[in-house]
Amino acid sequence: MRALLRSRYRVPISLRRYSNQLTKDNHNAFISKRKEETNSSGSLAGLKAAVKDNFVTTKEPTTSGSEMLRTYVSPFDATTVSLIEASGAKVVGKTNMDEFGMGSSNTNSAFGSVVNPMFPENHISGGSSGGSAAAVALREADFALGTDTGGSVRLPASYCGVYGFKPTYGRISRWGVIAYAQSLDTVGIFARDLDTVRSVFDVLDVADSKDPTCFDASIRHQISHQKNLQSSKVIGVPEEFVVAEMTEEAKDAWNLALCALVDEGYEIRYISIPTIKKLLLAYYTIATAEAASNLSRYEGIRYGYSISSEETASMTPFDIVSKNRSTAFGSEVQRRIILGNYTLSSDSGNHYLRATHVRKNLVAEFNKVFSMPNVLFDNEVYNRDGCCALLCPTAVSPAPSLAEYTQETNENFLNAYINDILTVPASLAGLPSISIPYYSRQGIQIMGQFGDDETVLKVAKTLS
Ligand code: GLN
Repeated sequence: MRALLRSRYRVPISLRRYSNQLTKDNHNAFISKRKEETNSSGSLAGLKAAVKDNFVTTKEPTTSGSEMLRTYVSPFDATTVSLIEASGAKVVGKTNMDEFGMGSSNTNSAFGSVVNPMFPENHISGGSSGGSAAAVALREADFALGTDTGGSVRLPASYCGVYGFKPTYGRISRWGVIAYAQSLDTVGIFARDLDTVRSVFDVLDVADSKDPTCFDASIRHQISHQKNLQSSKVIGVPEEFVVAEMTEEAKDAWNLALCALVDEGYEIRYISIPTIKKLLLAYYTIATAEAASNLSRYEGIRYGYSISSEETASMTPFDIVSKNRSTAFGSEVQRRIILGNYTLSSDSGNHYLRATHVRKNLVAEFNKVFSMPNVLFDNEVYNRDGCCALLCPTAVSPAPSLAEYTQETNENFLNAYINDILTVPASLAGLPSISIPYYSRQGIQIMGQFGDDETVLKVAKTLS
C-alpha cells in the first residue's frame, strides 16, 4: 500500500484532466425532454437541470426506467424538483436509468442502455444514474439530480468524468423519489464543476416535513455546532479498499490525489475498517429486502402496467398480478425481488438480521476513525486525533466497454455487483461522499463523517 505514495507523480500531471470530445447524439441519456423556455430568477437562474426519471413530476411520465411505469404521471412534483425550479433552474428532461435504480452500468433500463460520452466507441456510462451523468458530460444540462443507493451517483460520475456528490443520508428530502431501498436511497448531484454542486446542494439541503427521514432543524443545528469541532487535517486510507480487481490506472489516480493532499499540508494515515470486507453481502441483503417490499405495490391494478382486459377475463386475480409483474419487470428487478423475499423469509436463516448487525459494526468502526462525532450517537466513541476524511478511487477501473462488460456479466451476473465495492461503505453508513473527476477517466472518492458534508466538499475543492 505504501508503494502508492512512493511512486509519486509517476503520471504526468497534464493527464489529470480529460475532456469530452463526442457529440450529443445517440447517447440515450434522456427518457423524455421538455420543450418550454421560461425566464427565471433565483440562485440557480439560467442553469439547465436534468432529473433522473425516478423523481416524480407532473409534466411528463415518471418511468423509473421500467416498462411497469412507462405511462405513469404523478399528480405532484418531488420536493427536490420543486426546490430547484423555485430557485430558477430549468428542467430540460428526465434521464435514463437502470430500472428502479438496480444496476451499476445503465444496461438494465427498459429504454435501452446509456452510451458513455467519454469514449469514441461504446462504453458503459455506469449506473444507475447513467443518464444524469451523461447529460452533464454532454453539456445538455449544467447539473443533474440522481439517486445513490449503493453508488449510483458516484460510479457513473467517475465513468463519465463529472462530479457526483452523495450528501449525508437525511440532508435532502426523498419525498417524491421512487423508492428502491429506503434506508439507503439518497438524492445526489452531478455537475461539471464543484461550485455548481455546492450551489445546488445549498438549495436542496433543507428540512422537509413530508419526509420523516429528512433532518429537522434541531439535527441541522447540532451538525453545524459539531462541525466547528473539526480541525483535523488527517486523510485516512482504509487498507480494505486495496482490492485485487483494482487497475493500475485507479491506483495511479489514488496515488496522485494523496500526493496532492500532502502538498497541501494534509497528513496521510493508513487505517483499517475490517467490516468493509463483508459489505457487498450485507448491502445486497438489505437492498434487495427493502426493494422486494417497496416493489410489491406494483401490481398493475391500482397503477402500473396491466395486460389487456380480454386476456384477464378468464384469469384469477393472482394470475393477473403475476402476469403483469412478470411481463413488465425486467430480469434484474425480478431477480432482486426473489432474492429479497427469500432474505425476508424464515427459511433464510436470519440473513436480514445478520446484515443489519454488519451495518451496525461498520458504523461503529467509522465512528472510531473520524475526528468528528457522529451526530446520531450522543455519547459514541470518536477519535479526537482521527481523520477528517477518507480517500480512495470511486471505481476499480475506468468504464469498461459494453462488450467487455457484457461478457463478464454473462459469465457470472455477480461480476456486475463487484463494481460497488468501493461505494457501498458510505451508503450503508449514510456518510457524505463525492466522486471527483481526477485523471485518465478515473474518479477519486472522498468520504466524511455522518453530517460532515462540509469537509468532504472542502477536500474536494483542494483536489479540484
Ligand atoms: N449498483 C448498486 C445496486 O444495483 C447501486 C445502485 C444504486 O445506487 N441505485 O444496487
